[in-house]
Amino acid sequence: GPKKGEKDKNQNIQVAVRCRPLNSTEKKNGSYCVVDLNPERREVNVRERLPTSGTKTFTYDRVFGTQSKQIEVYESMVVPILEEVLQGYNCTMFAYGQTGTGKTFTMEGNFTDDPAFCWNTDPNIGIIPRSMGHLFHRLDNMEGEYSVRVSYLEIYNEELMDLLGAEAVENPRLKIYEDSNRKGSCIINGLEEAAVQNCAEVYRILQQGSMRRQTASTLMNARSSRSHSVFMVTVHMKENSVDGEELLKIGKLNLVDLAGSECIGRSGAVDRRAREAGNINQSLLTLGRVITALVERASHVPYRESKLTRLLQDSLGGRTKTSIIATVSPASCNIEETMSTLDYAYRAK
Ligand code: ADP
Ligand code: MG
Repeated sequence: GPKKGEKDKNQNIQVAVRCRPLNSTEKKNGSYCVVDLNPERREVNVRERLPTSGTKTFTYDRVFGTQSKQIEVYESMVVPILEEVLQGYNCTMFAYGQTGTGKTFTMEGNFTDDPAFCWNTDPNIGIIPRSMGHLFHRLDNMEGEYSVRVSYLEIYNEELMDLLGAEAVENPRLKIYEDSNRKGSCIINGLEEAAVQNCAEVYRILQQGSMRRQTASTLMNARSSRSHSVFMVTVHMKENSVDGEELLKIGKLNLVDLAGSECIGRSGAVDRRAREAGNINQSLLTLGRVITALVERASHVPYRESKLTRLLQDSLGGRTKTSIIATVSPASCNIEETMSTLDYAYRAK
């Protein structure tokens, strides 16, 4: 049972922290490591500087150290929610953290257009390609028929953009409507949904979407750090039950690479500097409030206050499962942002 003093946790929300290794820029600027991870105790220890000098300890559901492998993260954080999707539920997985700490590395991985690169075996591939490979493997070994559709979109400045659309050079802006047939769900007008038969097709889509994001980010500086990308997978499964009746299950998996968390201060409110720079990320702020409301089992959950949370309303809360991976840098120069991320992730527990 829960430890003394521990809150009655919402088991449908799992929170992990992943710390990347110190990078060359951090080494060059004289930074040293201030973050220690203890996977067995599921603890993160941060050594704070003077005058508050001391160690602060945070506990999460999982903790991944600087040498953690993509497959470890995948197996403990994603496999359980993928199984839920196969049972016909909606699930969401988020990567949250400061820009440059490994959100995209965790979600997509390092993939290149090198012809020798192999999606099925490269150890650096991340959660999105791994979950697609796993999904098709599981579906191919199940009785009955299935179909898989994927969408890939971006939210930038509270506007939705398609990362899939066939030849859209300028990304078309999408509109979001409530679905009058299904309460709590929405329809995104004009969003491309690609029916995919196998992993190879998905990998092509991923590469294209990722290239499109990169192109957009060189056109507009820092755009990729301020936008959220959402990879949505919908699975329709038809099976025959023992008494010969047809059973239809629909599951949805949302894989979200969030905007950089640096615009949100430690209090969870918009940082003053960020506000002055006009850098308020409504979707990131609202996501924090929605998760807090779900954790505290509040009667009102403010889904409608941002595009991201409207989009994910049918996949957050209720019978759905959510995994959050908070990514941090180990460097002394990033300690403020690291503490902010650790606080945010701790509030989600
Ligand atoms: P973000 O998406 O949060 O801005 P990235 O995923 O682009 O950050 O990561 C920044 C850099 O750090 C990339 O070069 C990436 O390959 C590297 N990196 C991130 N996480 C890890 C890790 N756990 N191990 C090794 N390298 C990492
Ligand atoms: Mg990124």
